[in-house]
Amino acid sequence: MNEKYEIFPNISSVAYYSSFGQYICLSKYNEKESLDKLRSVSKDDFTIELLSTLNHELQHWIDHTSTVWGLENTIKIYNAINSKLNNKESDFWRIASLMKDYKQSSYSEYYHVVHNKTPFSGLENRWSWNISMGLKFDHDGCVHPNNPIIFVRFNDKKGEPISRTPISIHSFLETNSMYKELVLKAKILQTKKNDIVEYHIKQKEFLKDNLRWIYNPELTVYSVNSHAVSNILGISDISLSMEIASQLSTFILNMPPDFYDKIPINKYFNSFKERALLFVSQKDKGFIFLNILYNYKDSFTRIGKFDLENLLKDSGLPTTLEIETLVKINAEKLYSQIINGPLRNKLEIIYHNGIRLLEKRGSFNQNVVDFEYLQSINFYPFILWGDKFLDLDSIDNDLVMHKIRNQIDLNFEEWYIFEEYILKQFGIFSNICGI
Ligand SMILES: [Zn+2]
Repeated sequence: MNEKYEIFPNISSVAYYSSFGQYICLSKYNEKESLDKLRSVSKDDFTIELLSTLNHELQHWIDHTSTVWGLENTIKIYNAINSKLNNKESDFWRIASLMKDYKQSSYSEYYHVVHNKTPFSGLENRWSWNISMGLKFDHDGCVHPNNPIIFVRFNDKKGEPISRTPISIHSFLETNSMYKELVLKAKILQTKKNDIVEYHIKQKEFLKDNLRWIYNPELTVYSVNSHAVSNILGISDISLSMEIASQLSTFILNMPPDFYDKIPINKYFNSFKERALLFVSQKDKGFIFLNILYNYKDSFTRIGKFDLENLLKDSGLPTTLEIETLVKINAEKLYSQIINGPLRNKLEIIYHNGIRLLEKRGSFNQNVVDFEYLQSINFYPFILWGDKFLDLDSIDNDLVMHKIRNQIDLNFEEWYIFEEYILKQFGIFSNICGI
């Protein structure tokens, strides 16, 4: 089995999304039973868990296809594959660039440290937090003075360390997926309201479950952005913190690059101004996330109600309406980056649907999109169900390549074989390049 890049596992590890292969694996669930359950009106606990897991992974697909960051990333993947299929050596830098990105962006796993796995024991033992900064390693294995990284450190009540977590692309994406799960569960909870006793029991369970994962030391990549919102703005309502964290995370995945220099650096960072300037020049998404929250802190505390327009204004940014227009222009500009090759048509379908989806959900994820909507526009990834037997030995590799070159649709097994082959080739190439 080849090394898999950019896999986003679900918190219970029963599922993942592969950004390179653009498919979802739901190993715990069988296809027919699951589809029947999804169609059923009543939502038992099994169905709620299935819906949550499916929508969590689908959110990764949504963010990878309908944010400016996601579209750029997807185009990079397809351009690298097309350059390989075109066998055009002068274009192979695209493969090296993609592999460098993958290896760098997996840094959240390396820099994420769990010191203490003790489960959360109640609100009286709330964690404390602080922001810290360090330097990242470069390709030669040296810490690089121009490559800073920002972390959140969590400590227990006695000040003992619990975990250290970078605010990274991974944490932005997991923030959105966890928020998607929350919205879905809250919606289902509302349907229980006609039985007031059951409703109260389920509501209690819902709040308890939220606390359990938010304060799970091993899951802080999923919760760090929401913790940052709670701590900086002083919010105790988890749902509100997650909503703000998701809107801001999505905005940062869409943010026009010239905004980085426009946003004033908050006085909180005065004592490490030089490092802060370095973060800005590196267009560091984690730093800018925290900086925008600090810029918003005073007016949020004064008014006591979340307002996206105020959040933007406090960082010297245009209105949501103006930003929607700018984001759309930037997303449309990406089209010119697409190169020719056998997978161009497939990429164009993803690209055009992605633009459509971006319009629907908004640059701040104001309109959460679910599986039903994706089905209605026929835009969702391959789903690998638990009972699916991948009969890879029966696949004729030559036939797969013939189909690719003639732009004939592949079934999942064929696509999987193709992805494995390409990843192997990319791995060999990046070794040759010393990446
Ligand atoms: Zn995830």
